[in-house]
Parts: sequence; structure tokens; C-alpha cells
Amino acid sequence: MRNQSDSFATRAIHHGYDPMDNEGSLTPPLHLTSTFAFETAEAGGEMFGGERAGHIYSRISNPTCDLLERRIAVLEGAEAGLALASGMGAITSTIWTLVAPGDEVILDKTLYGCTFSFMQHGLAKFGVTVTHVDLTNPKNLRDAISAKTKVVYFETPANPNMRLVDIRAISDIAHEGDAYVVVDNTYATPYLTRPIELGADLALHSATKYLGGHGDVIAGLLVGSSELIQQIRLYGMKDMTGAVMAPFNAMLVLRGLKTLELRMDRHCSSAQTIAEMLEAAPGVVKVWYPGLASFEQYDLAQRQMSQSGGMIAFELEGGLEAGRAMMNRLQLITRAVSLGDAETLIQHPASMTHSTYTPEERAVHGISEGLVRLSVGLEGVDDILADLRQALPQSSMIKAA
Ligand SMILES: *Cc1c(COP(=O)(O)O)cnc(C)c1O
Repeated sequence: MRNQSDSFATRAIHHGYDPMDNEGSLTPPLHLTSTFAFETAEAGGEMFGGERAGHIYSRISNPTCDLLERRIAVLEGAEAGLALASGMGAITSTIWTLVAPGDEVILDKTLYGCTFSFMQHGLAKFGVTVTHVDLTNPKNLRDAISAKTKVVYFETPANPNMRLVDIRAISDIAHEGDAYVVVDNTYATPYLTRPIELGADLALHSATKYLGGHGDVIAGLLVGSSELIQQIRLYGMKDMTGAVMAPFNAMLVLRGLKTLELRMDRHCSSAQTIAEMLEAAPGVVKVWYPGLASFEQYDLAQRQMSQSGGMIAFELEGGLEAGRAMMNRLQLITRAVSLGDAETLIQHPASMTHSTYTPEERAVHGISEGLVRLSVGLEGVDDILADLRQALPQSSMIKAA
């Protein structure tokens, strides 16, 4: 096994795998198997009893998924990892494991649409109190937290409006009591931010996005202490949701991780260039990007993220209608949800990813109707800029202010 001082990129390529253990095969074998043979009846019994290590059945563990789990754990600086069927599978398996009726979950105000729907419209039906708090100011958590609070959950940067949450400050307050801090790290990836090292208990991903990186797989990953991960594996994932990752999908995510650092460097540098162009463009009212000096939480971004990420939110003068017209003029940039792919993708959260909120809920949660979300891809940045420039309202189309 490689030593612990290896760089991020080296670990993302090598950690946990030695070709010489596998007939020299450079890439890890794909274990397409549902079940595993026991040497003896006694050995099988001991595995079920947890007294002997080994694989039993692929809804519990699988060697291809196991390699991915060890690799994401080391990249996140965590003890253990878990591979799940989707980002939503990671979120629901975690929450079902941690909460019981009577408990409270405190959520940041801005959440990915299906996370919001699961918590607000799903979980709340089962006797769990779901409270939304603006966690961009940690003081608000201190005012809201109580002995009932079991989980504090947030995204940073948040989908879609790019709000950041101070992971260390929130974790310090949550840990004065008994609450677990769960961070959705999908936007940042462990290359930019490592929540566990900043005090969070669990970090999770829609690996569908940057970690897979090629728009060809739905997948989820979770990291934390060995003890918590084992509980979520054996209860939330195995029994409550069954949201297990397929070995083939684990192979695709392992392949994606090999180029994560390279891809993120490019996503970040292109997004910075594009955010600056958008901010200066006529007809653009506001741009939210952590790398802009005008970004409200610029100082926190500098502290908590090693680079500013590949996601930009912006709003045009004329709101929703202007945004739709601009999106329809694009030729290279693809109108699609999802993010973190090689292709630059654009979407309108209020009618697409965040339509799980009612208009009133969007207003309360700070998701404006005109906001457009851009996932900056890996194409030549000049081509992305040119497509945006030809699609943005021309100065002659904007009435003088
Ligand atoms: C896409 C996404 C999810 C959901 O992940 P799936 O893999 O689609 O289930 C959760 N959180 C964030 C921030 C996302 O962007």
C-alpha cells in the first residue's frame, strides 16, 4: 500500500489497489457478483456474527465498491466510506439511520430540491421535527439548537444559490450538544474542501456530479467514522433503503476519480474567467461565484475552499423571461440539469431542479425565480465565453436604465 504522504492526485489513482494482488491487472477487477461463497458453514455464520471479515452479499459489501469506499475515505480524510446508489440514497440512508420520532433535524435554508422534498415533505410525516435555519450565520444555530436536535445538515456551496456555510463554526456549536453534522460536499468535492477535517461527522456526495465527472452514472458516496459508517451500512443502506451502488457504477466512479484533480483545476479556472465576464456584461444584474471579490462570503470562501469551484449562479435584468430567452439562444452550452460534467450545462432551478419547492417556499428559502445555474464544463473557455456572449441580451436590447 502507498504511504500516507502521497498527494491528492496520487491517492486518487493508486490508493488501496496493488495490481500484483490481481494478476498484474492495471485497473481493478469488476466483481459482478450478488453473493459470495463461504469456505465452511461455520465461516459463514461467523461472518454474519461480525466475528470474521469477508463479503457475504453485495447489498452489504462488494470488493469493487469496497475499493471505491476506501479511496473516497482517504481523499476526504475520513476513517471509512460507503458507496450508495445515488446522492439521494446516501442522504436518505444516513438520515433514516440517525433519527427517530421526536428528534429534530436542523437544515440550512437552501438545499438541493429533492433533499428539500425528502426532509420537508417526507421525513416530517414520520414525527421528526424539520427546522430550517439560516446557517450562513452560525449564531442562528446557537439560538435554534436544543437537546432534541439530532442532525445539523447543510450544503456548501449550496445548490443553486452558492451560499457558503462555515463548517468549523457550525460543527463547534453542534458538538456542544449531541447533534451530528452532515455536509453535502457535492459542489466542492474533497479536492476543494474536506468537511471531516473541519469537524463535520459525515460528508456525502452525489457522485453523479464531479466525482463520476462524465455524466454517465448515478451514484452516491458517504464518509465518516468507521462506527457511523458501519451503522449506516448495516441499517440505513442494507435494511431501510436498499440503496446500494452497483459494482459497475463503482468502476465508473473509480475511473472518474483518477482525473478529479485535473478536471477540477480546469472547471475552476474557466469558471473564474466566465464569472468575471458575466459580472461585467450588460444586462446581468448579479453573479454569485465564490471567486469574485463582490461575493458576499468571499472571506469564508478563501478560508474554506482551496479554489472557487465550477458552478456559477446569475440573474439577468428582466428575470425569468430574460433568462429563458438567453438559454434558448445558446448553441454550445447544453440546456440540462445535473452538473460537474465535461459539457457545460445550464438550467433554471425554479422550474427544474428546485420545482419541488412551492413558489412561496422558494421565496422564503432565497431561490429567486430568475436565477440561472451554470455548470462550467471542460470545453475551451473561449468557446464557452463566445456562446454566452452571443446569447446574452445585447446592450441595444436593454432599455437604458
Ligand atoms: C444532484 C445532487 C444531489 C442528488 O444526487 P443524485 O445522485 O442525483 O441522487 C444531492 N445534492 C446535491 C447538492 C446535488 O447537486
